[in-house]
Amino acid sequence: MAGLPMDQRDGWIWFDGELVPWKEAKVHVLTHGLHYASCVFEGQRAYGGEVFKLREHTERLIRSAGMLDFEIPYNADQIDQACREVLKANNLVDAYMRPVAWRGSEEMGVPARNNKVHFAIATWEWPSYFTREERLKGIRLAWSKWKRPSPETIPSHAKAAGLYMICTLSKHAAMDAGYTDSMMLDYRGYVAEATGANVFFIKGKQIVTPMPDCFLNGITRQTVIGLARERGYTVTEKHMMPEELADFDECFLTGTAAEVTPVREIGDYKFTPGEACTTLIDAYSEAVTPNKAAAE
Ligand code: PMP
Repeated sequence: MAGLPMDQRDGWIWFDGELVPWKEAKVHVLTHGLHYASCVFEGQRAYGGEVFKLREHTERLIRSAGMLDFEIPYNADQIDQACREVLKANNLVDAYMRPVAWRGSEEMGVPARNNKVHFAIATWEWPSYFTREERLKGIRLAWSKWKRPSPETIPSHAKAAGLYMICTLSKHAAMDAGYTDSMMLDYRGYVAEATGANVFFIKGKQIVTPMPDCFLNGITRQTVIGLARERGYTVTEKHMMPEELADFDECFLTGTAAEVTPVREIGDYKFTPGEACTTLIDAYSEAVTPNKAAAE
């Protein structure tokens, strides 16, 4: 499947209440979501046939829609059920899953109260980019020229399409300069997050991570904070200026797609993936594996 365009695959997509053949899951060009970014989505992963933290993702999706002033026409139980259904229909056990909700094409213009809300869920195989050894070398990040916006500028805590415009621009600039990803500051100049992942900094048993007051408090981030505390690390959430990065030895990103990904460079700041990175990569992969006891 690798390399096939996303609209040319085989399988089933859950679309407005039914499973439709993959290539037929289409929208009209005059869709409000496309013109005005009235669109929210989730990124979640299934491991061994179960979507990790499914209810948390579903609840965030419903909240994100609310922040954009629309309501998904399904409740959390129905959405969870649809996620399980689409995974089964595609015969997948380890997969990435993308629920997405958007306003339709009934009327064109900024107001959209009469535009129907649509909801779809697609799922496909998306293995980790790197083996454990490759991952442990750490990726390189460039600083972004774009800043995460204030919660007074945009609903910053929604997982909404419009908030990814500057992520794509940041990621392109970083990749063009030979880096893997980009680190964004926020509107105040504090260290914020990468283009699709949260960031952590480590010195010994002390872990510090930016306060998520104007960007996503990732579900992986929250999971990893718990796992780190269970393993004797102290975890502090605070506002961090870029200069403070010089105080840390290790750094990693967290996200549903990234899982726990060590970082070796952010601009001129260098890190060496070590004990915290290995411990938390392993702890996270254990946490996402269902039926741990049965597998042993
Ligand atoms: N920030 C951004 C911008 C993201 O796209 C993601 C991925 N959803 C995250 C953080 C991490 O969130 P999560 O751990 O819930 O996947």
